[in-house]
Amino acid sequence: MVPLSFEFYPPKTDEQRAQLDRTARRLKTHAPEYVSCTFGAGGSTLSYTPETVRRLHQQHGFEAAPHLSCVGGTREEIRELLKLYRAIGCRRLVALRGDLPSGMGHPGDLRYAAELVAFIRAETGRHFRIEVAAYPETHPQAEDAQTDLRHFKAKVDAGADAAITQYFYNADAYFRFVEDARRLGVQVPIVPGVMPIANFSQLRRFSEACGAEIPRWIGRRMAGYGDDAAAIREFAADLVAGLCRRLIEGGAPALHFYTLNLARPTQAVLARLR
Ligand code: FAD
Repeated sequence: MVPLSFEFYPPKTDEQRAQLDRTARRLKTHAPEYVSCTFGAGGSTLSYTPETVRRLHQQHGFEAAPHLSCVGGTREEIRELLKLYRAIGCRRLVALRGDLPSGMGHPGDLRYAAELVAFIRAETGRHFRIEVAAYPETHPQAEDAQTDLRHFKAKVDAGADAAITQYFYNADAYFRFVEDARRLGVQVPIVPGVMPIANFSQLRRFSEACGAEIPRWIGRRMAGYGDDAAAIREFAADLVAGLCRRLIEGGAPALHFYTLNLARPTQAVLARLR
């Protein structure tokens, strides 16, 4: 099995915190290399990510990587967060531009993730291992795939150590992206981001927003199961496990699971891989 990492979002209520604690305990049995915690651009979860990372690291004993986005933030705010993460004991970060909620004004001091990576390196040297985002199906705002790939390379040139991809259900998009990146001289590991399917209508909404394609045949199969939740769970776990198997056979260096703070959908996939 390749190394694993699990992504969580920062809980805001006591109930959500209890759920994350349960999920973290269950997923710990899979011995992930690290876990990561998302960051709400524009300030909405500004105070929750550090608290969650501290909990994951100090209470659950994970190596924990905060996501850090630059949109809407000042250099000073980012500097403060870097100090805080150092103090918590973090040695890795996921560096992103982020997305401003629509209607929010100030874009922030740093415009793109490449500028954020350069800033983190200038401020903290090699203290943090830095992961950045990659888009096998192209970032939705990119002019075209080639330009997006050059922007991806700029993040690596600025000092990123590795990349995690947006999720996808088409393995060829990943293999082609890795091939193109290698041709451009990008050497760092490019880890596929894997989205287990827990709630298909939610997944559809997410996918429209982030530009991930759900192949038509998957939607048709899901629709065909109607309200048969057990059949949907089985199909979803088989589908995502099949994707993971192909990725591993094709040379993926690790797998990063978007857990949405749920243990079962990820565990169902991992059970099929062992
Ligand atoms: P960038 O790499 O800066 O790219 C953004 C866009 O700008 C792309 O279209 C790119 O082609 C273009 N671009 C880059 N450089 C230039 C340039 N110099 N000139 C012109 N155009 C340029 N969002 C959150 O808010 N919080 C999170 O915790 C979070 N975690 C994520 C984790 C992963 C693994 C992934 C894949 C995404 C995550 N996101 C998160 C979403 C991410 O913030 C959005 O996809 C965002 O729109 C782009 O972020 P980025 O870091 O890829 O941006």
